[in-house]
Amino acid sequence: MKQKQIQWMLVPFLSAAVVVPVWPQSRALPSGDVQGTYQRLLEKIKSIKIFDHHAHPGFGDDSDVDAQATPPEHLPFRQRETNPELVIAVKALFDYPYADLSAEHMRWLQERSNKAEKEGSTGYWDRILDECGIESSVANRVAMSGYLNPQRFRWVFFVDSFLFPFDNKLVIAENPDEGVYIPLQEKVLHRYMRQVSLNQLPDSFDGYLKFVSKVLEENQKNGGIAEKFEAGYFRSLYFSDPPRETAAGIYQKFHSGGVPTAEEYKTFQDYVFRYLVREGGRLGLPVHIHTAVGEGDYFSLRKGDVLNLENVVKDPRYLNTTFVLIHGGYPYFREVIWLAAMKNVYIDTSEIETLVYPSEMKNVLKLWLETYPDKITFGSDAYPYSAALGSEETYWLGVYSARDALAAALAEMVASNEVTEDKAIEIAHGYLHDNAIGLYPPPH
Ligand SMILES: [Zn+2]
Repeated sequence: MKQKQIQWMLVPFLSAAVVVPVWPQSRALPSGDVQGTYQRLLEKIKSIKIFDHHAHPGFGDDSDVDAQATPPEHLPFRQRETNPELVIAVKALFDYPYADLSAEHMRWLQERSNKAEKEGSTGYWDRILDECGIESSVANRVAMSGYLNPQRFRWVFFVDSFLFPFDNKLVIAENPDEGVYIPLQEKVLHRYMRQVSLNQLPDSFDGYLKFVSKVLEENQKNGGIAEKFEAGYFRSLYFSDPPRETAAGIYQKFHSGGVPTAEEYKTFQDYVFRYLVREGGRLGLPVHIHTAVGEGDYFSLRKGDVLNLENVVKDPRYLNTTFVLIHGGYPYFREVIWLAAMKNVYIDTSEIETLVYPSEMKNVLKLWLETYPDKITFGSDAYPYSAALGSEETYWLGVYSARDALAAALAEMVASNEVTEDKAIEIAHGYLHDNAIGLYPPPH
């Protein structure tokens, strides 16, 4: 600070003789041609090849697209089929001949997607990535599909099912959404058991943890690059640190029957969650955690609050585990950024792109990029929400919105003397590609 002030004072005396480059102080009010800066930045941003750090690519009727299904819910305004922006998305991706998304016209889209699904080639989804300027994308899926090119779609697999091996009667009774989610978690757990030829749960807790590790190792061998938790949908994101014997005792009591109390189940899950976090460090599998408001009207903001994870992500025992806070804890985006102080914690913007408009996303990105720009990563959360807003259209809308919000946030930062335009473009490369790609090995 002092040195800056001295430089300022020297300028009038020196400027006549030599040009002294002096960086002006940052200012609260942007000045200069903000619109012009925004346009220049946006053009450059459009040419940056993207790594999409969170997406669920796939056709609408493919049940492997997620480990859960969407319960009946009230979609936020922008994600509804009535959003006129979706017509622009559909027209940008396909030669869609209509100007609206009426039920009758959407049949055109449905037929097109059915045809591509039947053909089963990887060309359809490769082309969607090309149209959106995406070099490669993560694929959050229960299993990969032959119609996704493994060179461009990198598998992230789900691990929540390991938290639900007992009788889930009490969990299911909590609210109608759990009635939709939990039976699907049970299905995934059975699928994992079949994968390693288990026809019942192992007799000992030790055996159970070995089963968990075996699945992680196999999935990694089959192309998996990260493990993913959607735990915020099913329970609190606060994980205590119970001793192993306590968790083992609960496993012994319930693995072959009986209904654990909420407290018993939570204690068992807290231990298994931390085991999965440690294994993520051992195997080099980053841990992705859903941390924003979620689908379903019963989603609990309090239980899903990203700050519940503070004791885990700031635990020095897990320094070799990389955490990715998926969806950036939205709406708690002012809080989440301070977790990125940890060198192993990253924040991803997926879902925010379509949950709100670029005008709000600009504020989110601006705060984050002003604080820990090297820890923020792009994700579209491409997902088959509906026939009109399929994974294809969410990719497009997510990329469009992120580029626009990014250019606007950076233009304001430039106009407030926070960064140069060159630095702004460097930050954009980090956010859209470089910050995330470095966390994973290249595809094999
Ligand atoms: Zn997602």
